[in-house]
Order: sequence, then structure tokens, then C-alpha cells
Amino acid sequence: PVNRSPEMQEERLKLPILAEEQVIMEAVAEHPIVIVCGETGSGKTTQVPQFLYEAGYSSDNSIIGVTEPRRVAAVAMSQRVAKEMNLSPRVVSYQIRYEGNVTEETRIKFMTDGVLLKEIQKDFLLLKYKVVIIDEAHERSVYTDILIGLLSRIVCLREKRHLPLKLLIMSATLRVEDFTQNQRLFTQPPPVIKVESRQFPVTVHFNKRTPLEDYSGECFRKVCKIHRMLPAGGILVFLTGQAEVHALCRRLRKAFPLTRHRPPEKDDQKDSVEETRRFKKSRARAKKAQAAMLPQISLDSYSVLPAGEGDEDREAEMDEEEEAALGSDLDLDSGDLGADGGEQPDASLPLHVLPLYSLLAPEKQAQVFQPPPEGARLCVVATNVAETSLTIPGIKYVVDCGKVKKRHYDRVTGVSSFRVTWVSQASADQRAGRAGRTEPGHCYRLYSSAVFGDFEKYPPPEITRRPVEDLILQMKALNIEKVINFPFPTPPSVEALIAAEELLIALGALQAPPKTERVKQLQRSRLSCPITELGRTMATFPVAPRYAKMLALSRQHGCLPYAITIVAAMTVRELFEELDRPAASDEELARLKGKRARVAQMKRIWAGQGASLKLGDLMVLLGAVGACEYAGCSPQFCEANGLRYKAMMEIRRLRGQLTTAVNTMCPEAGLFVDPKMQPPNENQVTYLRQIVTAGLGDHLARKVQSEDLVDDKWKNAYKTPLLDDPVFIHPSSVLFKELPEFVVYQEIVETTKMYMKGVSTVDMQ
Ligand code: ADP
Ligand code: MG
Repeated sequence: PVNRSPEMQEERLKLPILAEEQVIMEAVAEHPIVIVCGETGSGKTTQVPQFLYEAGYSSDNSIIGVTEPRRVAAVAMSQRVAKEMNLSPRVVSYQIRYEGNVTEETRIKFMTDGVLLKEIQKDFLLLKYKVVIIDEAHERSVYTDILIGLLSRIVCLREKRHLPLKLLIMSATLRVEDFTQNQRLFTQPPPVIKVESRQFPVTVHFNKRTPLEDYSGECFRKVCKIHRMLPAGGILVFLTGQAEVHALCRRLRKAFPLTRHRPPEKDDQKDSVEETRRFKKSRARAKKAQAAMLPQISLDSYSVLPAGEGDEDREAEMDEEEEAALGSDLDLDSGDLGADGGEQPDASLPLHVLPLYSLLAPEKQAQVFQPPPEGARLCVVATNVAETSLTIPGIKYVVDCGKVKKRHYDRVTGVSSFRVTWVSQASADQRAGRAGRTEPGHCYRLYSSAVFGDFEKYPPPEITRRPVEDLILQMKALNIEKVINFPFPTPPSVEALIAAEELLIALGALQAPPKTERVKQLQRSRLSCPITELGRTMATFPVAPRYAKMLALSRQHGCLPYAITIVAAMTVRELFEELDRPAASDEELARLKGKRARVAQMKRIWAGQGASLKLGDLMVLLGAVGACEYAGCSPQFCEANGLRYKAMMEIRRLRGQLTTAVNTMCPEAGLFVDPKMQPPNENQVTYLRQIVTAGLGDHLARKVQSEDLVDDKWKNAYKTPLLDDPVFIHPSSVLFKELPEFVVYQEIVETTKMYMKGVSTVDMQ
């Protein structure tokens, strides 16, 4: 029996999913596979594991497994469920790639989907679980998709063994046809249970015009208006990236400072009377504006008025009214009304501004769940993480820029770029829904309804958007040879499968098919090359196949500790802080400049001279991690040297994990993570370069020779086998000025140009 606190019990009872407990548990008892759909916030993640626990699905020492696509969610949800159930984290635990608190006593285990995939490699039948929940299936993350395919088979195998495994798939949207209408996946379509959500109506307001560039500025203006004009209630802003989030947070904090005491110049009586009057006036106007809007909130649940139904015009009118009103108000302040509608600090209207994005430190992320200080309004400025995984309490207004930043891969060349694109209609609706959790709310879309009409209906599943060599290697290691026959909910393209298989053959992880041309084609088209011994070794390392190959080659010359460090740093990515961000003030600009110079200098020191410099950016990674660990890996050291502390901690954990994996493979290596690791000697550096070249062999580039210079755009450019266009060494690289003839690179990222990052020199005989 679970011993919950009365307050917790009361809070739970408010969740719509509580009403469905019996229906869900009966369905689970009768069917091997059940799909549960319910709005974000309806209680799926926090409650369903508790239902299963109370129904005895963790008896006989078995575990209820829950997978999440995001680490943030796995950690946060295990803590939340432990708290609700009054159980220790030893019982309700989590496991993410680098860490976890699972014990012998663990009965409910939250993990990332990648963690469960690794477990399947060790125990294909997942015998320690009686039930597995795949959460956030609507996100269609690659691992979620693969897991669902694998579990569809595992469930059958367990049934044959009379050790039934239950599978629950949970989704925040009703778009589950890829699971239910997919005969190859589930011959019997699983039952779908819809949780009626107690969603309050959300009125959606479209902008009349769509800003072409400055959607951040538009967000700022909208938040200011809401905060000045509209009744209490939290504001949630959706932007696309960390830099934007910070910039807007700074701007809002400046506009509405959260100080207990007033700024000195506002101390005199007249001003504060004036302020109170202004405050009351704007509140009164807000009420009026609200009254004008309320009769139009007639939707049963949030929904979007189709284009041309006049919502835009209404919004535009309101805007004009507000604009006029705001104008006169601000005139009282200064008479100087900038394009932003004035950014004079206004301490009379405190706003509790918090950022939220996935790279933010967990304790800072947790702040959004706390109530704002007395008298202040909560305003969370978030990226996509707030769309479905986390529910922030008390949000009444959503400001949606309508954009999302995603890594985009070229299917043939693998070149990646971060692109800001319009979201899908489904995502926009999810975002709007965040405003109606506790009372009727409003969503301000900073784009027109016509633009919305052109959005894609749903975002495409991730598996169709990125290279799949890591998945294919994992699947081959599970002895799934004919990958093309695998029951993917949505299969990746055949080109992507072929590209993956070819890379794995080149790395020696798969057996090359016999050379005869005809046979080769036949083999390739069936995509059924078996895995090699090397491939099996590579599959045990939790890193991309290219890096796994480096590890597999590093046994000689005492290179393993260095290879592990380099691979860990390349896998964690973005070890260095982004210093090219726009500065909010002159002081900040000066600080950024100073730091950029210091970091550049440190990079030159870490890269060293001669042989070691040839290892280029990978030598910098090695040097930075080495120096940081030597200095005790303090946040101060990271801060001073432009290193991301969080990345450094992840690298440390991944080094530990890779070291364990290598020791398991070859116990005679007897490796350990040495915080006082000596730099590699010259021979070792040379050997490391060979190892790196073997892993990144398909990422080779040659400097364009002066005699080949046809066009100015090829100045200092490199040519790669796959791309017609020039690529360049990234300015942050230590080889930027060296311009070696042959290089290998970690990745090409397209920004203003195509840039190679993580560059190292290759000697060609
Ligand atoms: P779903 O999975 O259906 O989106 P959840 O189970 O995540 O819903 O959330 C149910 C409720 O629990 C939400 O109202 C949310 O605000 C609340 N909740 C979740 N995590 C926390 C937390 N860490 N602190 C406070 N409330 C939380
Ligand atoms: Mg959830």
C-alpha cells in the first residue's frame, strides 16, 4: 500500500487520469499492448506508473520501466513520483546515459529510451520487467520508434514463454495511426484509451502580420503588453534557442525589475502615486479588454479558428487600442517612446522571469515549478522543452513565435545545419494548450492565420530526418540482419539505410558483400550484411560508430585513455561556451571580447606545437579536459576558460563509462580514469592521428590548390568527395590559420558557409 500525504492525494485527485484508472488497468490486464492518449498535464507520466505499482506489477522483485526521450524528464519525473508516493529514490529511481540512482530495491525505473535499448542488447527478453511504458511516444524520437518495433516482438516472445510482458505506449496527441494501423508492427491493433482532459478553453489570437525577422522583439512587445494590460496569470514564451531565451530574459528583467525596494528616483511620493494610478488605470483597461474578449471564448477545448474567421481583425483592433493606451501611459514616463514601446524599467510591475531550455542546469530548471515571489507575475521563456515534456503550473498566457530550431541533416552528405523553421500545426496547438491548464487562457501567435494554414500538420518522425548508422549497428548487434524488414513505426528512407550500411562496411563493422557486381547490388538492395566481430565490439560502446571504431583501435601504445577522452569530448559536443552571442550591453561586449581572446590563447596552449598541433582541435579537447581535471574541474576553472561546466561533468561521466566498457572488453587493459593524466608523447600523438583518421576516414577534405582556384569563393577552401561546394575550417579551430593540405573533420555545420568543426591534420603518403 502506498502512504501518500493528504495534500498529495488531493492534488492527484484533480488530475483527469485518476478517473480512468480502472479503465486503464482493465485494458492492461486484458491486452498485452495498450495505448494511452491524453493532453500534456493530464497525469500520464506521474500517475500511470503508480497505478501499475498499486496493481502489483512490481511484485516478485520485478520492475516497472518507463522510458523518456529526454534526460530532463527522466530525472524530474522519477523525483516527482517518489515524492508523490512517499517512497525513497532507492525505490523510484532513474537511469540516464551517464548516471542514475537505481538500486536492488528499485521498483519504478525512469530511464531514457537509449538506456532501455542498451538493456535489450544484454537481455533481449527484458526479463526483469513486467511492464514497460514508452512515454512521449508522440515525439517520435528515434529510440522510441526502435523500441516500439523491438517491443512488439519481445511481447510475443514473452507470451510464448508464459512470462507475459505488458507494453504501454503513452502519447500526448491522438496521432497514433503509425502504431495502430501498422499491421507489420502490431497484427492486432492495440486498444487506445483516451483520457478526457480537463483542459480549459484557450483563445487563440493570430497576428495580423507575420514579422519577417525580429520575432524576439515581437515576443518582447507582446509580453510587455500582456503584463501591463491583462489580469494575473503566468506567461509562457516559446522561442527557438538558448541565446534568444537569455536575450529576452535580460530584456524583460530590465523592463520589469524584481526589486523589493523602488529605485531611488522613483522614491518620491508623487511618482509612486502616479504609478499606482497608472497601474490601476492599466488594470481597469485590461478588465475592459478582457470583457470585450470573453464572450468569444466559446470553444469546448482549445482549438484554432480557421483562417478568415475574423480573429485576426479582432486581435488587430485590440492591438491598436492597447497601443494607443500604452503610448499615453508611457508618455507620462519619459516622452521617449522607442520602437519597442519603451524599455524604461518599471519596478511597479515586478515580473519573475525564468529561462527554460534543455542545457540549463537541473536546479535552475526546477525553479519553474516553484511559485513566483509574492506579487510578481511568472514569465517563463522557453524553448521546445516546455511544449510537452514539462508542465509548468499557473500558465494563463502563451506567446508563441511559431518557430523551432532543429538540427537538419542532408541525407546524402550528412552535413548538418541548425535551421529555424515554422513548427507544425500540431506543435503550435500543443503550445497553445499550455495556457489552459488551470483556467481559461490565451495564446498569442506571432504570425498570421494564413501562415499557420501553410504549416505542416505534424512534425516528421526523427528517424526520417537523420543518419541512422548508430541504430543500424545496434540492430545488427541484436542479430537483426535484414534491417529493411524491421517493423519500424515509420521506416527511414532506403537511401539512409544504404548510406548507413555502407559507412558501417567501411568501418569494418559489417561484412562487405562479395565483390561480384550483380551480387553486390542484390545484397545491398536487401540490406542484409551481417555484423563482424569488430562490429560487435563497437556496438558495446555507447558512442557513434565512427568513435567506437577509434576506441576499438586504440589498444596499442597506451593510447586508450587519450582516445577515450577525445571520444567522450566529441560525443558530448560543445565543450566550449558560445562566445559569439550578441551582447546586451557595452560592458558585456567588452567582457565577451576579453573572454574570446583568452579562450583563443588557451586553445593555442592546449594544442601545443609541432606534432601535437597536427592533432588540431582534438588535441585542444584533450588538453582542455586534461587541464580542467588537473585543476579539480571546478566551475571557476570552467568559467575562466570558457568551458561549459555541465559538458565537462558529462565528459567525466562518459569517460568513466567508456573506461568500464573497455575494461569489460579487455580486462588486461586495467584502465582507470586518471585526473592527473600526462599529455601524450609525440609517438602517441602520431598514433592518435592514425586512429582518428581511421574513424573519420569518410570525412576527409583537401585544400584547394592555388592552381585550381577558379573563383574567389574557393579561397582558403577545402574540397570533400561528397560536396560540390567549398567547405572551410571553422574560425574557432586552431587549424584555421594553419590550413593543412589534408584534414579530417568531426562534422560539417552550415551557417553562413559550410564549416568543418573538430578538425585534425592527415599526412598523405
Ligand atoms: P502528462 O504526463 O500527462 O503530461 P504529468 O504526469 O507529467 O502529465 O503531470 C501531471 C501534473 O503533475 C501536472 O499538472 C504537473 O504540473 C504536475 N507536476 C509534474 N511534475 C511536477 C513537479 N516536479 N512539481 C510540481 N508539480 C508537478
Ligand atoms: Mg508526460
